[in-house]
Amino acid sequence: MVETETQQPIFEFSGKNMSLDFCNTIHDRTSSSPRELLTSYDNLLLWGQEAHILSEEEAKLLEEEARHHKEEAAATLQQAIELREAIYRLFDTMTQGTSPAESDLETFNSALSHAMIHSCVEAGPYGFEWGWQPEKRNLDRPLWAVVRAAADLLTSEQLEDVRVCASDTCGWLFLDTSKNHTRRWCDMKSCGNRAKARKHYSQKKRAS
Ligand SMILES: [Zn+2]
Repeated sequence: MVETETQQPIFEFSGKNMSLDFCNTIHDRTSSSPRELLTSYDNLLLWGQEAHILSEEEAKLLEEEARHHKEEAAATLQQAIELREAIYRLFDTMTQGTSPAESDLETFNSALSHAMIHSCVEAGPYGFEWGWQPEKRNLDRPLWAVVRAAADLLTSEQLEDVRVCASDTCGWLFLDTSKNHTRRWCDMKSCGNRAKARKHYSQKKRAS
């Protein structure tokens, strides 16, 4: 059973890629009691802001929109979680060298084509860049950038650097950008240290 957090969640961005960070919005993913962080549409907006997908102003507009369309907002949250799980499984199958499920590809591609309808090219300081059309009231707006980042990563050479955290219970994804490609944990401060402490403890136990 997935437990849900009641207070405001603390999101972490240790995945080195927006789509992997999005997959990491559930704690202890591979444990028997995962903890969901996307427990409300507002939390999805908060994540979008912290991921620099939405400005404060855009998030406020969407929050207001969600207040007027509660059912739609709830459906968007559900859709976000389904998409997140499909993205997670697509990356996970790659790390295991197995084939992705047809249904996950379908979920992903349907979200991708929906997002791309809203994409555009904008003039930037050094030429042109990808942008989004200024339709500020689409509730699923936070997902567009996620799905495009996932598509970019899935089709790039960096795909082979996607890893699952070495902790038994964490299951977070990250891009191993370390020089020797030896990064094993999503975060050395949390999972890495816990693993080291466990190893130290069992060695001490064996010694005594
Ligand atoms: Zn971890």
